Amino acid sequence: MQSDDTLRDIIAGRRRFLRLLALMGLGIGAAGVVSPAAEAATRIKKKVEKARVVKFRRASRPTRAPQAQTHLIDRYDTPSYAEDQFEFVSPSEKTLSLIAPTTGEKALGIPFWSEGKYQPDAIREVAHIMRDWRTGDTCPVDTALLDLLYDLQRRLGTTEPFQVVSGYRSPETNAALARQSRRVARQSLHMEGRAMDIRMARRGAGEIQRVALSLGRGGVGYYPRMGFVHVDTGPVRQWRG
Ligand SMILES: [Zn+2]
Repeated sequence: MQSDDTLRDIIAGRRRFLRLLALMGLGIGAAGVVSPAAEAATRIKKKVEKARVVKFRRASRPTRAPQAQTHLIDRYDTPSYAEDQFEFVSPSEKTLSLIAPTTGEKALGIPFWSEGKYQPDAIREVAHIMRDWRTGDTCPVDTALLDLLYDLQRRLGTTEPFQVVSGYRSPETNAALARQSRRVARQSLHMEGRAMDIRMARRGAGEIQRVALSLGRGGVGYYPRMGFVHVDTGPVRQWRG
């Protein structure tokens, strides 16, 4: 029995000694000396990280053949891609480029919407270009008309300015035009800054009309003989002049 007790004491003593050694090892590790166990752990960690990087590289390796990629890039240049892109890109700034052919004045890249709101100074500049050149009168511009023109220009896939054939019309000018032509409405949206007759140097009126109709907003009047398109922010409708 005595020998058993002695043996138990020796084992317990060894265990205590080993525990002490382990604690000392931890202490040394903490003091900056890397223990073999800690070294092994670091090696394993590095291996795992390396494996992860390799796995990531494999996963991110392109799977498309070079020909397929070239085809993809070509597709980006086609108008259909421009139209697709139009649906998803939310711009941080909306600009408009207008030319008044009667006066030769230009307003290019006017940022009428930026920093999340309409910009009154820029809109005043647009109103000036849109003014009734017969009387010099201006009128507040419907911001929905600016948005419509902006979207129309983007869908046309161009930054070419719109030529303002007719923008704002004062009541006198509209009455005079209505006397000359029965095509001119007596209560025209041109009198409210909600309509514009436009043309472009490089785009036919037919194309502008087609794209304007695709927006599904407001009125679209097509005047092929005069070579312009009327757009407004009234109810959705279309006619041919
Ligand atoms: Zn018009």
